[in-house]
Amino acid sequence: MKILVIGGGWSGIAAAIEATKRGATVVVVEERQYLGGRARSFVDRISGDEIDNGQHVMMGCYRALLHVAQTLGTEHLLERQASLRVAFVDSSSQIDILDSSALPGKRGLVLGLLRLRGISVYARLSAIRLALFISLGWASGKGLTCAEFLRKHGQQADAIKRFWEPIVLATINAPLSSASAELLVSVMSLAFLGSSNDSQILIPTTGLSELIRPFEKWLTERGGRCIIGIGVEALEILDGKVCSVRLSNGTSIVADRVISCIPQRALHRLLIGSDMNQLRAKATPSSPIVSVYLWYDKQWMPTDFVAALGTTVQWVFDKRRIQQGLVAVTVSAGSGIVMENSEDIVALCDAELRTLFPGMASATFKRGFVIKEKHATPLLTPEMLQERPAASELTSMASNLFLAGDWTATGLPATLEGAARSGVIASTAALSQ
Ligand SMILES: Cc1cc2nc3c(=O)[nH]c(=O)nc-3n(C[C@H](O)[C@H](O)[C@H](O)COP(=O)(O)OP(=O)(O)OC[C@H]3O[C@@H](n4cnc5c(N)ncnc54)[C@H](O)[C@@H]3O)c2cc1C
Repeated sequence: MKILVIGGGWSGIAAAIEATKRGATVVVVEERQYLGGRARSFVDRISGDEIDNGQHVMMGCYRALLHVAQTLGTEHLLERQASLRVAFVDSSSQIDILDSSALPGKRGLVLGLLRLRGISVYARLSAIRLALFISLGWASGKGLTCAEFLRKHGQQADAIKRFWEPIVLATINAPLSSASAELLVSVMSLAFLGSSNDSQILIPTTGLSELIRPFEKWLTERGGRCIIGIGVEALEILDGKVCSVRLSNGTSIVADRVISCIPQRALHRLLIGSDMNQLRAKATPSSPIVSVYLWYDKQWMPTDFVAALGTTVQWVFDKRRIQQGLVAVTVSAGSGIVMENSEDIVALCDAELRTLFPGMASATFKRGFVIKEKHATPLLTPEMLQERPAASELTSMASNLFLAGDWTATGLPATLEGAARSGVIASTAALSQ
């Protein structure tokens, strides 16, 4: 069976691997000059350092992603924490650590929460009660925003600010006032309240593109092919099936099944003129992520990564493995600063870092570089969550067309794991039809 995968991001790569392992011959078409989509690295022209389009963090519960990395032999490029450990710093430069290492699984998280110093005892107990409710399946987030959900469950302002908000921003890339609480419940259940392994944080030790570098060779050796730098322009649909796929170089490809692994906006462009309602996919707004790389003359970070509280800077990562003195700052749900001038963003980040970390006083700033991903992820509000088509959903318009991508209904936020999982689900559905 011949399968055509449109899009070479993580959903497309996972779909191609799954279909190949199930015996299909797979062709992947990627319109850009590189694979990886929204999770890629490139060489910075000035420093020569390989940097990502934005720092990505994975977790032990990312099973579909880890399966891809294991298949490609790149899992060793992910550094895994021994157990969940996150340092938080606030503008008074107090460092608080959520350390779950004392006990296995969710008991470790409970003890870690109990030991957090920056949150009142009452707020800590309320947060633990909600975590337990979630793990017992007693707290549904359906139809609620995270702000409504946390209010409903009596969460105090300090626990929201110092515990819940950093989790929501990092995993759902949306403010509390619009992020779907259903997704928060699934993140808590799968990652933070799963096994000790599930809650471990994994950070790539190299550029993101290295994780998928062997893919093209892997696919070719199994009879497949990657067409890179040529986009799909149209799906030609006849008698309820995609009969051929037209490429931007004027050629066409015929396949038994087509798996679309492209963002929703890109899919809509391919289907102009078709009946969109059949895809049940209303256009979802995007949520931006702003990433800032700052080069200093020496390494100064006290730990591998830190969550910053009460500042524009949200997460800071020590990138010393790429270059001594290099740090990466992430601002999720960054609609507030995405339109700002890059120089101002760099200056703001440097100034905030100096307040957060007085210990860096002797570090000299050398250079900054801003990457604005305006369409980093779909903005998954409770309403938008209901609009997501299932990853395996067949359209009545084309019975051999399957959908994947981080925006489809995987039960997860729009993440690398959501993307990889959607690819596996779509391939499985395509091959069992
Ligand atoms: C800055 C940033 C930080 C992030 N941080 C994290 C994180 O810490 N952890 C995490 O899990 N996730 C994170 N994410 C989200 C994660 O990167 C995405 O969810 C994931 O990469 C989406 O993969 P995808 O395959 O669904 O889509 P994409 O990566 O967008 O892949 C789709 C591909 O399809 C191609 N394409 C589009 N149209 C066509 C066409 N017509 N023909 C051919 N090809 C086409 C595109 O060029 C692209 O390569 C982050 C995202 C960004 C931008």
